[in-house]
Amino acid sequence: MRFEWLKLLIEGIVTNYKCPECNSKTDANHIEVLWIAGNNANLDIICPKCNTHSLFGTQMLQMNLNIDKFKKNLATNIQKISDKEITSLNKDLKKEKINVSDLFD
Ligand SMILES: [Zn+2]
Repeated sequence: MRFEWLKLLIEGIVTNYKCPECNSKTDANHIEVLWIAGNNANLDIICPKCNTHSLFGTQMLQMNLNIDKFKKNLATNIQKISDKEITSLNKDLKKEKINVSDLFD
């Protein structure tokens, strides 16, 4: 996983994401990288307004930083998940969590 790809991915989410519940946008402080393995990444996107969690899973090679592909990918790969699922994900993945806001200093 290349750092610049991760940064572009998050910027793409901030630009294109809309909360499935209330249509709000999110920001880098409300995105958590759950795990990264090779060319795959899973991110937890949290709505700053209504606190809905969305899970975003993606593959770097599929996306190839093409913005149209990215938007399609974002729309099809986001799924709303419950707080309970998030809690268990966080428990499992705590050691590998990255604070995304650190990338935007
Ligand atoms: Zn919302």
